[in-house]
Amino acid sequence: VHRLIDLQKAQSAAAVLNAERLSVLALVREAIVENQVNAESKHISMVLSLNGKQKLVHVEGAENAVDRDDVFINADHETIKTAVKNLVENAINYSPEHTTVAVGVAVGIGSGDDEVAIRVVDQGIGIPESSLDRIFERFYRVDPARSRETGGTGLGLAITKHCVQDCGGTIAVWSREGEGSTFTITLPQAKSEQDEESAKSETA
Ligand code: ATP
Ligand code: MG
Repeated sequence: VHRLIDLQKAQSAAAVLNAERLSVLALVREAIVENQVNAESKHISMVLSLNGKQKLVHVEGAENAVDRDDVFINADHETIKTAVKNLVENAINYSPEHTTVAVGVAVGIGSGDDEVAIRVVDQGIGIPESSLDRIFERFYRVDPARSRETGGTGLGLAITKHCVQDCGGTIAVWSREGEGSTFTITLPQAKSEQDEESAKSETA
């Protein structure tokens, strides 16, 4: 039922209307923390990095913490958080115990200066090549018998793709069986606050 509600929300155009300037670090921290219990029960450690530099997952008074090198996007908060949360959830579900799930935020690497990449990297079971272009379909699961163990409905990635597209982004996957998977969300970077101010005063 939760999945269907997520899907319903993801499909409503309202998501676009609530676009606001969001800290990407704050956003991915929320997505990680909401999966914490699951990760701990499998002894999976979750790490966070920004442009290759390690960041703390937990910061005191997270709302007030300022990272000087933080990056920003314009998106609906719940929508984009759902997308990242689902990827972290899968990374944990489809990994063996005592592995690491890494969330990496990067700007201006490969994709260009004005794009933000959010990567979720696991050391899990991976996805066979023949399934890679189907996993974003509704109800598609690589191995239904295996997925039954994790209680999957096969809707998570369909919802995630919707959410990302609603926020003006794209999603891509790399995976190799037995090695792990990497899901990458790419979104346009929001202008710096200064640039936004000067753009406003120019049009005024
Ligand atoms: P749920 O709706 O609860 O998320 P689900 O996890 O089965 O169910 P999706 O999240 O849409 O559904 O994922 C679809 C399928 O893709 C999964 O069943 C699994 O086979 C495969 N998959 C997704 N993410 C990963 C991953 N990180 N590693 C390995 N396989 C994955
Ligand atoms: Mg899932």
